[in-house]
Amino acid sequence: MSRRRQIYEGKAKVLFEGPEPGTIVQHFKDDASAFNNQKRGVITGKGVLNNRISEFLMLRLAEIGIPTHLLRRLNMREQLVREVEIIPLEVVVRNVAAGSLARRLAIPEGTALPRSIIEYHYKKDELGDPLVSEEHITAFGWASTREIDEIVQIALRVNDFLTGLFVGIKIRLIDFRLEFGRLHTDDDTQIVIADEISPDNCRLWDAQTNEKMDKDRFREDLGRVEEGYQEVARRLGILPEGGPADFRAPKAMQ
Ligand code: 5GP
Repeated sequence: MSRRRQIYEGKAKVLFEGPEPGTIVQHFKDDASAFNNQKRGVITGKGVLNNRISEFLMLRLAEIGIPTHLLRRLNMREQLVREVEIIPLEVVVRNVAAGSLARRLAIPEGTALPRSIIEYHYKKDELGDPLVSEEHITAFGWASTREIDEIVQIALRVNDFLTGLFVGIKIRLIDFRLEFGRLHTDDDTQIVIADEISPDNCRLWDAQTNEKMDKDRFREDLGRVEEGYQEVARRLGILPEGGPADFRAPKAMQ
Protein backbone atom coordinates (compact mmCIF):
# COMPACT_ATOMS: atom_id res chain seq x y z
CA MET A 1 0.00 0.00 0.00
CA SER A 2 1.43 3.37 -0.93
CA ARG A 3 2.20 5.76 1.91
CA ARG A 4 -0.31 8.53 2.21
CA ARG A 5 0.57 12.09 2.98
CA GLN A 6 -0.53 13.17 6.44
CA ILE A 7 -2.19 16.58 6.35
CA TYR A 8 -2.98 17.11 10.02
CA GLU A 9 -2.91 15.31 13.35
CA GLY A 10 -5.39 16.42 15.99
CA LYS A 11 -6.26 15.12 19.44
CA ALA A 12 -8.68 12.44 18.29
CA LYS A 13 -8.13 12.19 14.54
CA VAL A 14 -5.51 12.15 11.80
CA LEU A 15 -6.24 13.47 8.32
CA PHE A 16 -4.54 12.05 5.23
CA GLU A 17 -4.66 13.14 1.62
CA GLY A 18 -7.47 11.19 -0.08
CA PRO A 19 -7.24 9.05 -3.22
CA GLU A 20 -8.78 11.73 -5.46
CA PRO A 21 -8.39 15.51 -5.47
CA GLY A 22 -10.82 17.18 -3.10
CA THR A 23 -11.01 14.15 -0.78
CA ILE A 24 -9.51 13.47 2.64
CA VAL A 25 -9.21 10.29 4.70
CA GLN A 26 -10.29 10.89 8.30
CA HIS A 27 -8.71 8.38 10.71
CA PHE A 28 -10.26 8.00 14.20
CA LYS A 29 -7.83 7.43 17.08
CA ASP A 30 -8.48 6.08 20.58
CA ASP A 31 -6.75 9.10 22.14
CA ALA A 32 -8.91 11.31 24.30
CA SER A 33 -8.26 14.75 25.71
CA ALA A 34 -10.27 17.18 27.78
CA PHE A 35 -10.04 20.61 29.37
CA ASN A 36 -8.03 22.04 26.52
CA ASN A 37 -5.57 19.14 26.50
CA GLN A 38 -4.80 19.27 30.24
CA LYS A 39 -6.26 15.79 30.69
CA ARG A 40 -5.22 13.04 28.29
CA GLY A 41 -5.90 9.35 28.02
CA VAL A 42 -6.82 6.47 25.77
CA ILE A 43 -10.32 5.04 25.46
CA THR A 44 -9.78 1.62 23.94
CA GLY A 45 -11.88 1.09 20.84
CA LYS A 46 -13.23 4.66 20.84
CA GLY A 47 -11.97 5.37 17.32
CA VAL A 48 -13.76 2.33 15.90
CA LEU A 49 -17.00 3.25 17.66
CA ASN A 50 -16.91 6.94 16.77
CA ASN A 51 -16.19 6.10 13.13
CA ARG A 52 -19.34 3.94 13.06
CA ILE A 53 -21.54 6.25 15.13
CA SER A 54 -20.58 9.37 13.17
CA GLU A 55 -21.06 7.57 9.84
CA PHE A 56 -24.50 6.37 10.96
CA LEU A 57 -25.67 9.79 12.17
CA MET A 58 -24.30 11.68 9.15
CA LEU A 59 -25.96 9.22 6.76
CA ARG A 60 -29.30 9.70 8.53
CA LEU A 61 -28.85 13.51 8.28
CA ALA A 62 -28.01 13.24 4.57
CA GLU A 63 -31.23 11.25 4.07
CA ILE A 64 -33.26 14.23 5.29
CA GLY A 65 -31.30 16.63 3.10
CA ILE A 66 -28.76 17.98 5.59
CA PRO A 67 -25.41 18.22 3.80
CA THR A 68 -22.30 16.73 5.44
CA HIS A 69 -18.72 16.18 4.34
CA LEU A 70 -19.04 12.36 4.56
CA LEU A 71 -18.55 10.37 1.37
CA ARG A 72 -18.26 6.83 2.81
CA ARG A 73 -16.69 4.75 5.54
CA LEU A 74 -13.55 2.98 4.33
CA ASN A 75 -12.75 0.57 7.16
CA MET A 76 -12.91 0.17 10.94
CA ARG A 77 -11.15 3.44 11.70
CA GLU A 78 -11.34 5.52 8.56
CA GLN A 79 -13.82 7.39 6.43
CA LEU A 80 -13.51 9.26 3.17
CA VAL A 81 -14.71 12.85 3.39
CA ARG A 82 -14.86 15.84 1.10
CA GLU A 83 -12.18 18.45 1.55
CA VAL A 84 -13.80 21.62 2.90
CA GLU A 85 -12.64 25.01 4.09
CA ILE A 86 -13.22 24.75 7.84
CA ILE A 87 -15.08 27.67 9.43
CA PRO A 88 -13.18 28.38 12.68
CA LEU A 89 -16.21 28.02 14.95
CA GLU A 90 -17.50 25.36 17.32
CA VAL A 91 -21.27 25.61 17.19
CA VAL A 92 -22.83 24.23 20.37
CA VAL A 93 -26.55 23.44 20.63
CA ARG A 94 -27.89 22.98 24.16
CA ASN A 95 -31.20 21.55 25.35
CA VAL A 96 -30.33 20.95 29.00
CA ALA A 97 -27.81 22.79 31.21
CA ALA A 98 -24.49 20.94 31.55
CA GLY A 99 -20.75 21.46 31.19
CA SER A 100 -19.44 24.96 30.62
CA LEU A 101 -22.93 26.55 30.52
CA ALA A 102 -23.82 25.08 33.92
CA ARG A 103 -20.48 26.31 35.34
CA ARG A 104 -20.51 29.75 33.70
CA LEU A 105 -24.04 30.68 34.74
CA ALA A 106 -24.30 28.56 37.91
CA ILE A 107 -27.31 26.65 36.60
CA PRO A 108 -27.65 23.18 38.14
CA GLU A 109 -26.64 20.46 35.68
CA GLY A 110 -29.75 18.78 34.29
CA THR A 111 -31.95 21.89 34.28
CA ALA A 112 -34.09 21.86 31.13
CA LEU A 113 -33.51 25.09 29.18
CA PRO A 114 -36.57 27.20 28.28
CA ARG A 115 -35.63 26.71 24.63
CA SER A 116 -32.68 25.35 22.70
CA ILE A 117 -29.69 27.67 22.88
CA ILE A 118 -26.99 28.02 20.23
CA GLU A 119 -23.51 29.17 21.25
CA TYR A 120 -20.47 29.95 19.14
CA HIS A 121 -16.92 29.31 20.29
CA TYR A 122 -13.92 30.55 18.33
CA LYS A 123 -11.89 27.47 17.41
CA LYS A 124 -8.49 28.31 18.82
CA ASP A 125 -6.78 25.83 21.15
CA GLU A 126 -4.27 28.41 22.45
CA LEU A 127 -7.21 30.50 23.73
CA GLY A 128 -9.28 27.56 25.00
CA ASP A 129 -12.01 27.98 22.34
CA PRO A 130 -13.54 31.16 23.84
CA LEU A 131 -17.26 31.93 23.65
CA VAL A 132 -17.92 34.59 20.98
CA SER A 133 -20.95 36.43 19.63
CA GLU A 134 -22.24 36.90 16.09
CA GLU A 135 -20.69 40.39 16.23
CA HIS A 136 -17.20 38.91 16.70
CA ILE A 137 -17.79 36.37 13.95
CA THR A 138 -18.80 38.92 11.32
CA ALA A 139 -16.40 41.67 12.48
CA PHE A 140 -13.39 39.36 12.26
CA GLY A 141 -14.63 37.77 9.02
CA TRP A 142 -14.84 34.18 10.30
CA ALA A 143 -18.26 33.84 8.64
CA SER A 144 -20.79 36.16 6.99
CA THR A 145 -24.26 36.97 8.34
CA ARG A 146 -25.75 34.80 5.59
CA GLU A 147 -23.49 31.90 6.51
CA ILE A 148 -24.42 32.26 10.19
CA ASP A 149 -28.12 32.16 9.25
CA GLU A 150 -27.53 28.95 7.33
CA ILE A 151 -25.46 27.45 10.17
CA VAL A 152 -28.24 28.21 12.67
CA GLN A 153 -30.88 26.68 10.40
CA ILE A 154 -28.84 23.52 9.92
CA ALA A 155 -27.91 23.28 13.63
CA LEU A 156 -31.57 23.51 14.71
CA ARG A 157 -32.67 20.92 12.14
CA VAL A 158 -29.90 18.60 13.33
CA ASN A 159 -31.03 19.15 16.93
CA ASP A 160 -34.68 18.34 16.14
CA PHE A 161 -33.77 15.26 14.14
CA LEU A 162 -31.16 13.85 16.51
CA THR A 163 -33.29 14.56 19.59
CA GLY A 164 -36.04 12.41 18.06
CA LEU A 165 -33.66 9.72 16.89
CA PHE A 166 -32.15 9.41 20.39
CA VAL A 167 -35.55 9.51 22.12
CA GLY A 168 -36.35 6.40 20.07
CA ILE A 169 -33.46 4.55 21.74
CA LYS A 170 -34.14 5.99 25.21
CA ILE A 171 -31.29 8.51 25.20
CA ARG A 172 -31.57 12.23 26.00
CA LEU A 173 -29.57 14.57 23.76
CA ILE A 174 -28.36 17.12 26.30
CA ASP A 175 -26.09 19.14 24.01
CA PHE A 176 -23.67 18.72 21.11
CA ARG A 177 -21.05 20.56 19.14
CA LEU A 178 -20.92 20.86 15.35
CA GLU A 179 -18.24 22.09 13.01
CA PHE A 180 -19.01 23.46 9.58
CA GLY A 181 -17.04 23.83 6.37
CA ARG A 182 -17.41 25.54 3.03
CA LEU A 183 -17.62 23.08 0.16
CA HIS A 184 -16.42 24.87 -2.96
CA THR A 185 -17.59 23.60 -6.31
CA ASP A 186 -17.03 25.16 -9.74
CA ASP A 187 -19.98 27.50 -9.52
CA ASP A 188 -21.14 27.35 -5.93
CA THR A 189 -20.15 27.28 -2.26
CA GLN A 190 -22.22 25.23 0.15
CA ILE A 191 -22.11 25.05 3.96
CA VAL A 192 -21.78 21.44 5.14
CA ILE A 193 -21.32 19.69 8.48
CA ALA A 194 -17.70 18.57 8.95
CA ASP A 195 -15.67 16.74 11.62
CA GLU A 196 -17.72 14.08 13.47
CA ILE A 197 -20.90 13.59 15.49
CA SER A 198 -20.21 11.09 18.26
CA PRO A 199 -20.16 10.67 22.05
CA ASP A 200 -16.92 12.70 21.94
CA ASN A 201 -18.87 15.84 21.10
CA CYS A 202 -22.44 15.07 22.23
CA ARG A 203 -23.76 14.75 25.77
CA LEU A 204 -25.99 11.67 25.86
CA TRP A 205 -27.81 10.57 29.01
CA ASP A 206 -29.82 7.43 29.54
CA ALA A 207 -33.47 8.52 29.46
CA GLN A 208 -34.46 6.43 32.47
CA THR A 209 -31.47 6.81 34.81
CA ASN A 210 -29.76 9.98 33.46
CA GLU A 211 -26.53 7.97 33.45
CA LYS A 212 -23.91 9.65 31.24
CA MET A 213 -22.96 7.68 28.10
CA ASP A 214 -20.48 10.13 26.54
CA LYS A 215 -17.07 11.73 26.97
CA ASP A 216 -18.09 13.21 30.34
CA ARG A 217 -17.38 9.70 31.72
CA PHE A 218 -13.74 10.39 30.81
CA ARG A 219 -13.78 14.11 31.72
CA GLU A 220 -15.27 13.42 35.15
CA ASP A 221 -13.47 10.12 35.88
CA LEU A 222 -16.75 8.23 36.10
CA GLY A 223 -15.21 4.93 34.90
CA ARG A 224 -16.62 2.45 32.34
CA VAL A 225 -15.94 4.98 29.58
CA GLU A 226 -15.77 2.41 26.77
CA GLU A 227 -19.04 0.87 27.94
CA GLY A 228 -20.81 4.20 27.54
CA TYR A 229 -19.74 4.52 23.90
CA GLN A 230 -20.48 0.84 23.24
CA GLU A 231 -23.96 1.16 24.68
CA VAL A 232 -24.73 4.12 22.39
CA ALA A 233 -23.55 2.05 19.39
CA ARG A 234 -25.51 -0.98 20.58
CA ARG A 235 -28.76 1.00 20.90
CA LEU A 236 -28.20 2.51 17.45
CA GLY A 237 -27.87 -1.08 16.19
CA ILE A 238 -24.39 -0.61 14.76
CA LEU A 239 -21.97 -2.68 16.85
CA PRO A 240 -19.26 -4.05 14.53
CA GLU A 241 -19.81 -7.57 13.21
CA GLY A 242 -17.38 -9.12 15.70
CA GLY A 243 -19.18 -7.52 18.65
CA PRO A 244 -17.26 -5.92 21.47
CA ALA A 245 -14.22 -8.16 20.77
CA ASP A 246 -13.52 -6.02 17.70
CA PHE A 247 -13.11 -3.00 19.91
CA ARG A 248 -10.36 -4.63 21.93
CA ALA A 249 -8.03 -5.11 18.98
CA PRO A 250 -7.85 -1.80 17.18
CA LYS A 251 -7.10 -2.47 13.54
CA ALA A 252 -5.14 0.39 12.10
CA MET A 253 -5.36 1.03 8.39
CA GLN A 254 -6.70 -2.16 6.85
P1 5GP B 1 -19.21 22.47 26.96
O1 5GP B 1 -19.07 23.85 26.39
O2 5GP B 1 -20.34 22.35 27.91
O3 5GP B 1 -17.91 21.95 27.52
O4 5GP B 1 -19.54 21.51 25.72
C1 5GP B 1 -20.78 21.56 25.05
C2 5GP B 1 -20.87 20.40 24.07
O5 5GP B 1 -19.94 20.57 23.03
C3 5GP B 1 -20.56 19.03 24.71
O6 5GP B 1 -21.39 18.07 24.10
C4 5GP B 1 -19.12 18.78 24.36
O7 5GP B 1 -18.85 17.41 24.22
C5 5GP B 1 -18.97 19.53 23.02
N1 5GP B 1 -17.66 20.18 22.91
C6 5GP B 1 -17.35 21.45 23.21
N2 5GP B 1 -16.05 21.72 22.97
C7 5GP B 1 -15.52 20.59 22.52
C8 5GP B 1 -14.20 20.21 22.09
O8 5GP B 1 -13.25 20.99 22.06
N3 5GP B 1 -14.06 18.91 21.69
C9 5GP B 1 -15.08 18.01 21.70
N4 5GP B 1 -14.85 16.75 21.31
N5 5GP B 1 -16.33 18.34 22.07
C10 5GP B 1 -16.55 19.61 22.48
